[in-house]
Amino acid sequence: MSCHKSYITTPIYYVNDVAHIGHAYTTIIADTLARYARLIGQDTFFLTGTDEHGQKIEEAAKARGKETQAYADEISKTFKDLWDDFDISYDKFIRTTDADHKKGVQKAFTAMHKKGDIYKDSYQGHYCISCETFFPELQLVDGEFCPDCGKATSVVEEESYFFKLSAYEDKLLAWYDANPDCILPKSKRNEVIRFVEGGLNDLSITRTSFDWGVKLPEDFNDPKHVMYVWLDALMNYLTALGYGTDEKNMDFWPARVHLIGKDILRFHAIYWPAFLMSLDMPLPKHIGAHGWWTRNGEKMSKSKGNVVNPKEVADAYGLENFRYFMLREVPFGGDGDFSQRALIDRINSDLGNDLGNLLNRLIGMSGKYFEGRVESDLVSKYYQAELDEVDASLAKLEPMLFEMQLHRYLEELWRPLTVANKAIDMYQPWTMIKEGKTEETMALNGLIATILAKVSLMLHAVMPQTTSTICEALGFEITPESFEEIIRNGETLAPFTTQKREPLFPRIEEELLVDERQEILKKEKEEKEAKKAAQKEKNKDSKPAEGIALIGIDQFFETSLKIGMVVEAEEVPKSKKLLLLQVDIGEDEPRQVVAGIKEFYSAEELLNTQVCVVANLKPAKLMGMKSEGMLLAAKDKDGLCLIRPEKPKTIGTPIS
Ligand SMILES: [Zn+2]
Repeated sequence: MSCHKSYITTPIYYVNDVAHIGHAYTTIIADTLARYARLIGQDTFFLTGTDEHGQKIEEAAKARGKETQAYADEISKTFKDLWDDFDISYDKFIRTTDADHKKGVQKAFTAMHKKGDIYKDSYQGHYCISCETFFPELQLVDGEFCPDCGKATSVVEEESYFFKLSAYEDKLLAWYDANPDCILPKSKRNEVIRFVEGGLNDLSITRTSFDWGVKLPEDFNDPKHVMYVWLDALMNYLTALGYGTDEKNMDFWPARVHLIGKDILRFHAIYWPAFLMSLDMPLPKHIGAHGWWTRNGEKMSKSKGNVVNPKEVADAYGLENFRYFMLREVPFGGDGDFSQRALIDRINSDLGNDLGNLLNRLIGMSGKYFEGRVESDLVSKYYQAELDEVDASLAKLEPMLFEMQLHRYLEELWRPLTVANKAIDMYQPWTMIKEGKTEETMALNGLIATILAKVSLMLHAVMPQTTSTICEALGFEITPESFEEIIRNGETLAPFTTQKREPLFPRIEEELLVDERQEILKKEKEEKEAKKAAQKEKNKDSKPAEGIALIGIDQFFETSLKIGMVVEAEEVPKSKKLLLLQVDIGEDEPRQVVAGIKEFYSAEELLNTQVCVVANLKPAKLMGMKSEGMLLAAKDKDGLCLIRPEKPKTIGTPIS
């Protein structure tokens, strides 16, 4: 990486709206970049927050009969709560009503004025209240309506301070020219250049028509003016670092990237760099503008009732699955379509089949052939070609991430998984092990583990929890150190032992509406809790009920229970409790079972009786004797009795 500090921002979200999928998308991209930057050891500052000034907020509060600040507090909190719910790793949540922010904006106003970039004049123009923007007559639709939102504009004349935006035309064009990546995607940069080439008017940056905003610095002695919201809002990127107050984080400037929706590109790509030039501050490295989300091909709107609530989707399908879907589904900058079919396909196919199933295959193979042991030291001896292919893909990834090519990043990151799945099909470990190629088979498992480890590290920023779970199964933790070792230095994984685990991405069979699915999940949860409560009630008198976990039928059948016949029985000398039994369970030889039942049964009375045996228990040693099974029994205050079939059954019959 060329720079060691990463300052990553979302826009500050305007508090006249509830959070929707577009807000979630921007924030998730920013969170992904911030997490990645931290993982590669960069000093990272991730900013999000809320924009709370302006006429619209004042009016919205009034309409609800609330104090403006109280109303802003309320809506700002819904954003903060959502990001906390979504585990967004922001370092600061800024609010434009913060006292520090206001001070910083005033300082900037003073500095721009000193520079000669601010002057006072009167302004007459067509003003859209909704967009808080004056529009030149030429831009109005039918000479009256706002070109951005379509609402009627009104002619407003007021005294205003102006910023000399026109003076920055050439400097801006020179900046775009010298920095081909300053606006991403590049197609958007061309739009901005064309707009600036068309000529820039000076910018009215104060208002007298409302009150809810940052006042001018006191020495201007002009109390009826408040700052125009865009100067106020854009300045948050500096004031969050302490500009104008304690300056303590100013070394994070300039921003690595400002992430925004394409609707506010003009403000970020024209006004903001011009303000910064006026302040003699360096300009941001990238401004990344993403597109809109539609639903099933249609524009989302409240009136159509098809607005996607990000919280509902995340609850129904899993937050990290949702993160993966959003970043994978849409080329950055393009418009994206949200459909549940597409989301379910991504979960079942990319995540379930390609990723989750690969971990299952590794656990299955290592369990079957090596008691769970996985060693990776011989991978390069047998599978260098596969390793090379994987590393070639991984090497392409990092630049894609910081160029916001997240869909390509994830697409490329899936290639190593294909390499792994193909290797299993091609080398057929089940054949190799039969042919006695033990070393090759172990190395193949090592290859799969290595690929899973590398993919998880590179996927961590997108799916933090899931990848942590995978790496835990592979015997290591995701940290900047393990990233350095495994990704940068290509170090071999330490040996580890796998264990059976729940699937990471249970298959979603049916396409259900979000609310239907939520309803089902809620019911399942309630049923589970009801069962738990009932179980607790039942066990209250006899046994302590804590820790009774429900298991599926599959888990029950992991225990092999069989009918056995005690064919030999003797007391273990010097032991009060143990009997040494030979139990026939229909195998070539009887099993030796050391049972702690001497206090309740004599050797004699057990001989030639039937018992129930746990047949797949790991062998254990008791008083130096091997025990290869366990007898089912029940014990209460009256003593212990063995569980036996009601009528004699064929020896070796499975119990189910
Ligand atoms: Zn408008």
